[in-house]
Amino acid sequence: LVSRETQPEDTIVTVGDVAIGNGRLTLMAGPCAIESELQALTIAEKVKAAGAHIFRGGAFKPRTSPYAFQGMGEEGLKIMARVREVTGMPIVTEVMDDQTFDLVEAYADIIQIGTRNMQNFSLLKRAGRSRKPIFLKRGLAATIDEWLMAAEYILEGGNTQVILCERGVRTFVNHSRNTLDVSAVPVVRKESHLPIIIDPSHAGGRRDQVIPLSRAAVAVGAHGLMVEVHHEPDKAMSDGAQSLYPEQFVSLCRQVDAIFRIL
Ligand code: PEP
Ligand code: MN
Repeated sequence: LVSRETQPEDTIVTVGDVAIGNGRLTLMAGPCAIESELQALTIAEKVKAAGAHIFRGGAFKPRTSPYAFQGMGEEGLKIMARVREVTGMPIVTEVMDDQTFDLVEAYADIIQIGTRNMQNFSLLKRAGRSRKPIFLKRGLAATIDEWLMAAEYILEGGNTQVILCERGVRTFVNHSRNTLDVSAVPVVRKESHLPIIIDPSHAGGRRDQVIPLSRAAVAVGAHGLMVEVHHEPDKAMSDGAQSLYPEQFVSLCRQVDAIFRIL
């Protein structure tokens, strides 16, 4: 079902008045985690003014350490809903397990399945029964075939609204958090009709890599970007080191727009 042979024309995923995969660049931006209403609204207003179409933010966070901030839970979802109400931007947020799926589904416009859950098959089956678009991140060490098969679970369940996200894969290098697999974009676009977004933030893991990787993402044909932005990254409860300052996101938007225009 995910194959281009089955469906030659591109899938366009529509949320509100945003269409992903329709030949325009979709920009998703926001903090790694929702920390407070003031934090979320401050960042949302800034990324919207810069040109973002969709607000991202985590309420349920998959953290490496059990002692690290785990997210605000439902309180965070309520804050995201408030951001949507105030700014008009659709919201994308991660679901971590079957138990909280109904809750996240009730608030989110787009439901994110994170890299660590790409092969959580019961979660994929539940996502297949949802009527909300699913944002499926590539597993840390997944091949493109494995990733597309994970998407297949969702389509097979009856949900055709799937957006793929390349966010870097684990390699031997230590100059970046992960290695952005830019070659995944032309391969996925050839093999599948599903839209593909690049997340340069979790790929690079360092602020100074985010803008260059974003330029590469657009040049290689991604349908959009998901970028972490924080107004006070030094105080961020997660992923501050890779979060752009709002002014940098303004610059990123200008640069990728210029590249997109010449393609
Ligand atoms: C995120 O986008 O907040 C996230 C945790 O990303 P990933 O699943 O790619 O690590
Ligand atoms: Mn993050």
